[in-house]
Amino acid sequence: MPATLETLRHADTNHAIEIAERVWWVGHVIPEDKFQCHVYLLEQGDQSVLFDPGSRLTFAHTLRKVEEVVSLSAIRYYVCHHQDPDIAAALPLIDELNTRSDAAVVTHWRAATLLKHYGLKMPFWLVDEHDWRLELEDRTLEFIFTPYAHFPGAFCSFDRSTGVLFSSDLFGGFTEVPQLVALDESHFDAVRPFHEHYMPSSDILDYALSQIERYPVEMIAAQHGSIIPQQLVGFIIDKLRHLDCGLYLLGQGDTDIRRLSQLNRTLRDITETMLLYRDFRDIATRLLEVVQRSLPVTHIDYYAALPDGQVLTLAAKARFVGIVDARVPDTCKFVGRTLSDWKRAHVDDTAPSNHDLHAEGFCLQPETSSGGATIAVPLTAQNSEQIEAMAILAFDRRPLITSSTAQLIVQMIEPLKIALEREVIYRSIDLERERAYQRSIRDPLTKLFTRVYMQDVMKRHLALQERDMAPSVAAVMLDLDHFKQINDTHGHGAGDRVLEQVAELIQSECRSVDVPVRFGGEEFLVLVIGQTLSGATKLAERLRVGIAEHPFDIDADSPLKVTASLGVAQLKPDESLEALIHNADMALYEAKRAGRDRFTIAE
Ligand code: GH3
Ligand code: MG
Ligand code: MG
Repeated sequence: MPATLETLRHADTNHAIEIAERVWWVGHVIPEDKFQCHVYLLEQGDQSVLFDPGSRLTFAHTLRKVEEVVSLSAIRYYVCHHQDPDIAAALPLIDELNTRSDAAVVTHWRAATLLKHYGLKMPFWLVDEHDWRLELEDRTLEFIFTPYAHFPGAFCSFDRSTGVLFSSDLFGGFTEVPQLVALDESHFDAVRPFHEHYMPSSDILDYALSQIERYPVEMIAAQHGSIIPQQLVGFIIDKLRHLDCGLYLLGQGDTDIRRLSQLNRTLRDITETMLLYRDFRDIATRLLEVVQRSLPVTHIDYYAALPDGQVLTLAAKARFVGIVDARVPDTCKFVGRTLSDWKRAHVDDTAPSNHDLHAEGFCLQPETSSGGATIAVPLTAQNSEQIEAMAILAFDRRPLITSSTAQLIVQMIEPLKIALEREVIYRSIDLERERAYQRSIRDPLTKLFTRVYMQDVMKRHLALQERDMAPSVAAVMLDLDHFKQINDTHGHGAGDRVLEQVAELIQSECRSVDVPVRFGGEEFLVLVIGQTLSGATKLAERLRVGIAEHPFDIDADSPLKVTASLGVAQLKPDESLEALIHNADMALYEAKRAGRDRFTIAE
């Protein structure tokens, strides 16, 4: 009677174990071997079948266990799903012990071309010449061709009477602790690296899986790892369908398959992140999560060159909202400079542990104050030496640097460059918009000229004036009295209404040659062109009276009374515009001091 799953899990691997009706596990557990090669016996009277008989290292144990069930002479067929030594090296030993004239090695022609080099007396029985099936007394073995998974002639065997699939390398796993039967879905963690590493491509694996899915598989007797019970079969097949294979393409010189597998997953996630997200904040947040799976990074900050030469800081602490901050870390002062400059300055530490980092131009720096460390990663533009941006990975302790650390960081670079480039473009558009606003001629609230425009127009005006001598420009500076109170009492909106109406009054009192400016919040300046001080003084008085007498409509029950204080000054020979404005401002201050609602003329 085959054992239940529960007893199978605790079965004694020093003996043959019946895993399904007349299907026996007769392998040998090699301590501390992640690979575990399993051998299975199909008990079928004197037509018994031994699957993937095993290596010279384990054969004595396998033989003993086989003989707990049937005598060796009861075995007629030795199935070899491929020709690797871990499943076939025992063939010469078997050949020596075999006494039957009808015993045969069951395999595919492609494996036979290699297995023949053992020089066996036993003949081959080729699955491809027997319609891919072997009729036994009361059951039929069906052979499923799974080419290139991982050997060109690889195949699996299926026993329809029990539903057991003898899957060879397919569905194998790397198990840290030997486990005859997989416990739960976490077994996929053992299966994943095995397949990513063993299977050359997902197309090849997919083909094999689709062949197998045609059979009602109830148990997978894999050659490596653990036996997969029925409840996990569908799950494992499904997971294998979404795997990237051919891991060796990634990790040159790295033999830790588990780490490569982890790296593989990380890289896939980085690519996916780039496809999914557009916003830098999302990308940076997700990248951090992905990288944290492999490196103890606490956060990553970014510094990118803006077209105007400033450095845009995207700090994790500020949730990657870009700011232009003069205080960037020293390493980031290299943004905008060349990679050779950077290498000369930073990558001279030749400690062997950091070799991989330095080969890539990264720089590990201990943070003396916190005991942590940072890795600075310069990001250059396409085909250029120029450092466009810098990523600073922060660690709370000095990280252990391995070749895959450097590899992982290298893989982050391209997506990061794209994300940062995009961010810099967005940011530049913002800055340009800001500048365009600054440069714009009129203030949006009052429609008076802006200061920037005033500077511009006055520079041109004064340049012309100098040639004809006699520059005749006066300034009237105006500030509303107790304006804060208006805001406080009636609200900011009411304040705005007042500013609009004051601006209208100013506009109506000015001639077209004058330059009325919104100088500050509720400060206005009129540059009076071609007039003497007395002309400007008259304007100041008209403005004062106009404002004081104006009923300001602020959507309240009664109109508001507002007053203003003014200062008047005239441009003296060889004086700058700034000096003129300053003098008008000082006069205005005098008017305020003298009690407001009046004008003062600069001395
Ligand atoms: P003073 O008589 O000394 O000038 O007193 P004040 O209250 O007017 O003082 P000050 O000139 O310093 O106050 C300016 C106030 O104008 C402060 C600010 O809240 C307000 N303000 C500046 N710009 C605007 C604006 O665009 N709209 C509104 N509603 N208020 C503004
Ligand atoms: Mg004021
Ligand atoms: Mg003011």
